[in-house]
Amino acid sequence: MPDVSLAQLKADIVEVGRRLYARAFVASNDGNITIRIAEDRLLTTPKNVSKGFMTPDMMVIVDLDGKKVAGTSDASSELKMHLEVYRQRPDVKAVVHAHPALATGFAVAGIPLDRAVLAEVICTLGSIPIAEYATPSTQELPNAVRQYIKAHDGLLLANHGALTVGADVFAAYYKMETIEHFARISLTARLLGGERLISQEEVLRLQSLRGLYGIAAPAPICLDDDVSGGGGGVVDATCQVVRSPDAPGARLVPDPASGVAFGVRDRAPGDDEEIRLTYRELAALIEDAVQKLR
Ligand SMILES: [Zn+2]
Repeated sequence: MPDVSLAQLKADIVEVGRRLYARAFVASNDGNITIRIAEDRLLTTPKNVSKGFMTPDMMVIVDLDGKKVAGTSDASSELKMHLEVYRQRPDVKAVVHAHPALATGFAVAGIPLDRAVLAEVICTLGSIPIAEYATPSTQELPNAVRQYIKAHDGLLLANHGALTVGADVFAAYYKMETIEHFARISLTARLLGGERLISQEEVLRLQSLRGLYGIAAPAPICLDDDVSGGGGGVVDATCQVVRSPDAPGARLVPDPASGVAFGVRDRAPGDDEEIRLTYRELAALIEDAVQKLR
């Protein structure tokens, strides 16, 4: 560990908790934060405390089996999930878990934040998958997280919340901010008719710029047609699946999943592919056809 005092690390957790609460990334006593303070020691937030109103003396020290070593309170009830992250990722020094409303909305809807939408997110977090639903505080949750954590610094937890990791507690916290910001933008774009996606060609270019933003992603991107081991199934993810259409030469392309958001002319559906039209578009097509008949 760098030369940062325990008192400073406790103060850092208090500050990150305050920010999580101030930005409504947590409600009530939700969420938890840990820092690896030595090879086999973690500093953790206590159980049953609002993260917006913590003090440094509340923090608990545990070993890597989760056994309390110091502190008056009990450790966070989600400690098992944090312990699993540290076991799988020796590079990780801090873990933040929260329930930010928009990202959690995606997690509840079962929609991963895995589309190539924002250049900065591709360069840093890559995609944000959803770990399968698991009962909070049980061993199920670490098992669900294990599948993705080697390839991702940020995850959604199905019907629960989000998890981020980093080289220090602020790095992990900022990734939580990025996930929630990404969810907000993605939702807005979907409400406005659909996202335009960054093409595969451009995604590969962005991948080569990784590190430019100071946050190198833990695994390479695997595009739609190369998803072996990239999430889903029982194999641990080894790369980040980013949904990105192949359109050589194009940098921005319509999302094939978003219907007619960019007009039927942008799409080339197969004979049996369903397309959806608004009443206005259908009327325009009929009028067009009638005109041609005249
Ligand atoms: Zn939670």
